[in-house]
Formats: sequence, structure tokens, C-alpha cells
Amino acid sequence: MKSTGIVRKLDELGRIVIPKEIRKKLEISQKDSIEIFIDGRSIVLKKFESGCIFCSNSKDLILFKDKLICKNCIKNITNSAEE
Ligand SMILES: [Zn+2]
Repeated sequence: MKSTGIVRKLDELGRIVIPKEIRKKLEISQKDSIEIFIDGRSIVLKKFESGCIFCSNSKDLILFKDKLICKNCIKNITNSAEE
């Protein structure tokens, strides 16, 4: 793990601001979702990138009943339903 040398204090609600330079470097924009991981005694923050529920592909996604499915998987499902 690489240290950034940045130390930040939590506010009274436990919030922390991710420094602008880090957000810029990792292409994190306002309102992006951040996934929180725990690794031993460390907290790892990662930009949440959702993908197809079947193959994790993040291209050509369609939202169906609150789940993301890629066009390729839809095609495969349709084909196997027709057999
Ligand atoms: Zn898929």
C-alpha cells in the first residue's frame, strides 16, 4: 500500500474529505458511489463501478428490475429461453 502522506481528521459525524488531488487522480466525481472495504485494520475506499450481474461487464448495460444486465448476457438468456 502506498502512503499519500496526507493525514485528515474525522469530523464529529465520522466524515472525512477525500483530498481533491486524489479524487482527480482516480477520476472520482461528485455524487460518485464509493465502496468501503476492510483489510485487517485498514479501511479501503474504492470507486464503486457497477457492472452486469452475470459477467461484471460494464459496457452496454440495461437496467432490468433494479439489476444491471449487459446486452450480451440478455442475448444469451434470450437464446437459451428459445431452445
Ligand atoms: Zn453480462
